[in-house]
Amino acid sequence: MHKILFILGTRPEIIKLAPVIMAVENEGMKPVVLHTGQHREIAEEMFRVFKINPDIRLDVMRENQTLFSVSSRILEKLEPVFADCRYSMTVVQGDTTSAFLGALSGYYTKTPVAHVEAGLRSNDKFSPFPEEGNRRLAGSLTDLHFPPTELSRKNLLKEGIQPNNIHVTGNTVIDALFWALKLPYQPSEKLKTIYDSAKRLILVTSHRRESFGEPQRRVFRALYEIVQNYSEVEILFPVHPNPNVRREVADILENHPRIHLCAPLGYLDFIHAMEKSEIIMSDSGGVQEEAPSLKKPVLVLRDVTERPEGLESGALKLVGTDGEKIFAECEKLLESPAEYSAMTRNPNPYGDGRAAFRIAKSIKLFLSE
Ligand code: UDP
Repeated sequence: MHKILFILGTRPEIIKLAPVIMAVENEGMKPVVLHTGQHREIAEEMFRVFKINPDIRLDVMRENQTLFSVSSRILEKLEPVFADCRYSMTVVQGDTTSAFLGALSGYYTKTPVAHVEAGLRSNDKFSPFPEEGNRRLAGSLTDLHFPPTELSRKNLLKEGIQPNNIHVTGNTVIDALFWALKLPYQPSEKLKTIYDSAKRLILVTSHRRESFGEPQRRVFRALYEIVQNYSEVEILFPVHPNPNVRREVADILENHPRIHLCAPLGYLDFIHAMEKSEIIMSDSGGVQEEAPSLKKPVLVLRDVTERPEGLESGALKLVGTDGEKIFAECEKLLESPAEYSAMTRNPNPYGDGRAAFRIAKSIKLFLSE
């Protein structure tokens, strides 16, 4: 039986690989799940939701680590993993340092590499950093590329990847979303109170490193202005544990009766919060991909996005961190049904919920050749 090693660390990697792990098992292969140890508590909740019990845990995270130190720890700990067992393939996802180093370990041991969510590019080496570098490097070591869209396939072709090694699949985040929305769900009392009282809910997430400091303060001040100007609007903001984010949030947004700050939400809580909200403001990649399936408009709190398909379909609008622009675009959505409908009427360009099935089939075919 083919053993397939999945290397994952962060919240989005778990969400986006979970459907692939299930699909690989359905195709008669044996998934072996390795967790690098990032996002520890958040990760455990995700594993519970997706009923994944990691086979290998590396525990690489340290306080105040640098990219150098965490990279060398990951690589050092991956060596015995690849030495102990011969895997038919290793699967990495997206743009994290562990995805790149997983691909590098596959290359060093001549284990074929599959890259899920391949081909996203901002074409700015330092934004997002280090993600743009990580995904390019992972891509250059990959044997089977699984871009979510036609556009990401074109990015790979431009870089000289052979067309027969590329399979457009859609994004597995949609598979996870559809799967998880069917699970039984009961919101906490606190969330229930918000959902019951909120006439118009705005869901916010903001955690990108590029925005720390003044750009993030501009975003938070704009949010404050919005609730001050619209008495029927409430904000739900699961705050990333990063101290930079928490400090700014506390300074500007704390103690407002219609601004609900909370710790990062579990996956089920979060997808249901998206469903309950009218508008989403976020700098998260995954949220930009999920929201169109729920017919929710996303104001993207970034200056560039590697997800132009959503801009083109109308589901996303780049508002960056300019306070006036954020306020103005939010105002349009709150006041104009036509503006709202323009952002929510088209199908999701990121997939149909069958990406993982396509990926598992391609892996099986690749291994049988
Ligand atoms: N998410 C979650 N709880 C939260 C915020 C986000 O479960 O409080 C989920 C969300 O549904 C999406 C993913 O986490 O699938 C996005 O992760 P993140 O924003 O950390 O990373 P990015 O997508 O920017 O790489």
